[in-house]
Amino acid sequence: MGFGVVVLEPDGHAPAARVADTKLLAPYDDEASLAELSRLCAAVTTEFENVPAASLHRLAAHCSTAPEAAAVEVCQHRLREKAQFAAAGVPCAAHAALRTEADLAGIPPSLFPGILKTARMGYDGKGQRPVDDAAALAGAWNDLGRAECVLEARLAIRCELSVIVARGADGHCVHLPVQQNLHRGGILAVTRVPAPDADAATIASAVAMAHRLAEAMDYVGVLCVELFILDDGQLVANEMAPRPHNSGHYSIDACDVSQFELQVRTLAGWPLVAPRQHSAAVMLNLLGDLWFTGGLEKPSEPEWAPLLELPGVHLHLYGKAEARRGRKMGHLTVTAVSAGQACRVALQCAERLGIERF
Ligand code: ADP
Ligand code: MG
Repeated sequence: MGFGVVVLEPDGHAPAARVADTKLLAPYDDEASLAELSRLCAAVTTEFENVPAASLHRLAAHCSTAPEAAAVEVCQHRLREKAQFAAAGVPCAAHAALRTEADLAGIPPSLFPGILKTARMGYDGKGQRPVDDAAALAGAWNDLGRAECVLEARLAIRCELSVIVARGADGHCVHLPVQQNLHRGGILAVTRVPAPDADAATIASAVAMAHRLAEAMDYVGVLCVELFILDDGQLVANEMAPRPHNSGHYSIDACDVSQFELQVRTLAGWPLVAPRQHSAAVMLNLLGDLWFTGGLEKPSEPEWAPLLELPGVHLHLYGKAEARRGRKMGHLTVTAVSAGQACRVALQCAERLGIERF
């Protein structure tokens, strides 16, 4: 859209830094770089929710920031996030805070079996421990460095959804078609749109919840809300991401407006229109594990040609310098005229790559 892009990032190999017009290689809280960023930019956003909220506060004094620091602060902290769900009238898992030794004894027995999660800095299933009973809690908390945590009841999940909304400064809010997500080992593996296992009423309530949350936070920018459909059909919120989300990458290839274009429009103060999905889509994440198939010590990049010869396959590689197990290296989106056809081709891709069937 003709904008120049400046990236502030401590890692010079970061994918965004590779495509930016200007790079500021520094920690996210480096005073001089923040000053330079606000001097160079008319608008600033974050691509990663663990940028210190204080840095966003600092930038907001000199240029427009979206999302605002206050909203990012909520999404950075699982307990604040759950309080925000409650304030917006959105249900979430039963939970309790674990901050001090004294809290251990006060955890209600109804939360077991549960999942202990660090309040901050968790992603891709990191910073989480399953806890079967009260006796196992202290050990799990020690494992997590006795950091501030939340214990959540382990829910019986039928399937997972996510809703991506974009909200402008004028309060106008649009959303992408709702994603159904399959996680493996706490990491997103497959996204399907349309969602094969959710009925229209459930999709409509998921969308309503996401809009309600964006409204309640007076959010400006792109927001992803992750939700669970439980075995009994009940819909509960899991967590939020204050940025474009992995589950929305399908929109690049399958919608007439992508989540990234929505992000740019919210920054530019341009109108937001509801994206229209023109193709059914299945997205497969490409984890670093694929670089180590065959038990090789040294990573070797998979062969892409056998995938690209299939119809409707779009390959996205992020250009990360080093492949590691569990690291998101890229994704594939399969687009097709029908969900069935997209699924068939995606299963062929999975088979050729050695990814487990979904
Ligand atoms: P992350 O920040 O790593 O994405 P999440 O809270 O989203 O953390 O957890 C990752 C995955 O773990 C979820 O997508 C879901 O599959 C599973 N999970 C998380 N919380 C629960 C829960 N309370 N009950 C059952 N499964 C859960
Ligand atoms: Mg998650």
